[in-house]
Amino acid sequence: MASKLPLRMMPGFPMASPRPWSMRAFSTCRRSTLPLPIASRPSSLVSRPLIQRSFRRSYADAPQAQLSPEPKPKKRFRFFLWTWRLTYLSVLAGLGYVTYQIYEGRNPKEQLEPDPNKKTLVILGTGWGSVSLLKNLDTENYNVVVVSPRNYFLFTPLLPSCTTGTIEHRSIMEPIRNILRHKKAKVKYYEAECTKIDYQKRIVYAKDDSEIKGDTMETEIPFDLLVVGVGAENATFGIPGVREHACFLKEVGDAQKIRKQIMDCVETATFKDQSPEEIKRLLHMVVVGGGPTGVEFAGELQDFFMEDLQKWVPQIKDDFHVTLVEALPNVLPMFSKQLIEYTESSFKEEHIQIRTKTMVKNVTDKYIEAQVQNPDGSKVLEKIPYGLLVWATGNALRPVVKDLMSQIPAQAKARRGLEVNEYLVVNGTENIWAVGDCAVANYAPTAQVAAQEGTFLARLFNTMAKTDAIEAELRDLSGKQATANPDQRKVILEEINERQRQLRRIKQIGPFSYSHQGSLAYIGAEKAVADVSWFSGNIASGGTMTYLFWKSAYLSMCFSTRNRILVFFDWAKAKFFGRDVSRE
Ligand code: FAD
Ligand code: NAD
Repeated sequence: MASKLPLRMMPGFPMASPRPWSMRAFSTCRRSTLPLPIASRPSSLVSRPLIQRSFRRSYADAPQAQLSPEPKPKKRFRFFLWTWRLTYLSVLAGLGYVTYQIYEGRNPKEQLEPDPNKKTLVILGTGWGSVSLLKNLDTENYNVVVVSPRNYFLFTPLLPSCTTGTIEHRSIMEPIRNILRHKKAKVKYYEAECTKIDYQKRIVYAKDDSEIKGDTMETEIPFDLLVVGVGAENATFGIPGVREHACFLKEVGDAQKIRKQIMDCVETATFKDQSPEEIKRLLHMVVVGGGPTGVEFAGELQDFFMEDLQKWVPQIKDDFHVTLVEALPNVLPMFSKQLIEYTESSFKEEHIQIRTKTMVKNVTDKYIEAQVQNPDGSKVLEKIPYGLLVWATGNALRPVVKDLMSQIPAQAKARRGLEVNEYLVVNGTENIWAVGDCAVANYAPTAQVAAQEGTFLARLFNTMAKTDAIEAELRDLSGKQATANPDQRKVILEEINERQRQLRRIKQIGPFSYSHQGSLAYIGAEKAVADVSWFSGNIASGGTMTYLFWKSAYLSMCFSTRNRILVFFDWAKAKFFGRDVSRE
């Protein structure tokens, strides 16, 4: 009789119990110390009647209490369960978001045609200032024209990592065409250098400086509004030999040149019958300038040597040296005292030599001549031989900026760049704005400042366009009001009042104010230093945790999802496989 009943209705069979061949039954039996039924083995090879028979047998022998439904998981287990659920839901949501970002990035929408009746806004440069302006600008309000010899945006904070191959340069470049193609209205881009700005005639002169030339190489671009974001060039202070013999570190080409020269020095030093002095010279890597560029590069270079070069070319082990030369009494002058000391002691541990109070005066192809200040204050001239020389002594004005300054009487006293007012308007002009390293607004020439200035200008231009549109509507409404009957006039008056209220709200745009988020710098050996603003104070920290913070901060700041993924994989690649020591 009992054997004819369906298994679920047999006495002693738990109603809410899972199927006997499920994993849950398997664990229930294990907990209840019952002999493990054959059927509960998660094997499809066991036949169904056999499962049923053996299961019936084992449950029939079991006391009732042991067969009761599984108790609910305790509170703390429920917590872990929910944490796990939340984690995988977040991972799924994150993956969905990244997939959407990639899809959106690869599939730009149709764009509006520019309206010839609108004002022409010319933007010079595709660096931090100009790109952050473009990113936030409503391009349908203007005819936007971008002129820059570089058809990509470069994430400069990670450029020192490209010199040793920790990061590939393409991972930190974002094509300007991608950026512009995602704007609502079309933007014209000319890959050219602006050679002159005639601020009175409102014309920009542009020259195609690329290797491939068409039948037009120079052109004139008229503007109503102009934004100058051409950055700065490398300062050499007129020191002889610098341009001829040193490498700079500002552009992708510079990083590639450095990477090639490091390997060239190493391979030449290991050439047959090289004299010991020549080996020492070739393997002496000298970095001039103890600002963040010089410090970060020196740290990256020493990492490359410690982690890769000495492993693959062991014969250079005793002769490879990195020296950082700085004219001032200490490196990283913009960081707090404790971080300066931390960096200096960290460099000592990493065997990077720091030569402070050493000012380079002359550069030849094989050595630099530097004026060294002794502890007693006396000065001596010293020759320091080098194989690779990297020059990182800060910024100087570009010729086009110097030329514009010379045309504007109000800029006669300016020395470090275009002086601007609190709305970033170039002093002495009405329709020219300047952002980033070419502007002097009492802030340090950093990406942070340039990006915030660009965002501010976008807000200003968007507001100006809205204001123009509302003012045109107001003129229109006033005209209509004159010929309207009393009822219509009442309605029009209400509309005029509403537009005036809107105008007042929009016009309330305050002047530019910079919010300093802090300074970060990598110092090698997986350590970084950070001076981070915290409420009204400042937190100074250095070490490996700061390095992780540095990494996550720069990863999140990369321009696009594509950049973020590429940088992440470059880091992983360098960690697992090491850096590539081939020359190219
Ligand atoms: P840039 O970004 O230099 O852009 C200038 C643009 O103008 C370029 O597209 C250029 O091609 C174009 N251009 C040049 N000449 C002309 C011309 N005649 N006509 C038209 N276009 C022209 N800052 C930080 O805050 N944090 C960091 O970690 C950091 N790390 C750095 C690391 C390195 C190696 C370097 C070199 C700089 C670093 N900086 C950092 C500083 C930061 O990169 C600059 O302050 C920032 O790039 C300035 O932005 P910008 O828009 O003024 O100029
Ligand atoms: P810098 O102006 O900050 O430092 C240049 C250093 O070179 C100075 O300390 C100067 O004393 C030294 N110097 C000048 N002439 C010399 C000579 N003849 N001999 C020896 N030393 C000499 O330049 P940088 O490091 O290229 O930085 C430029 C700008 O970019 C700065 O505003 C900097 O803050 C910013 N930046 C920031 C970061 C970061 O935040 N991690 C990284 C790189 C650059």
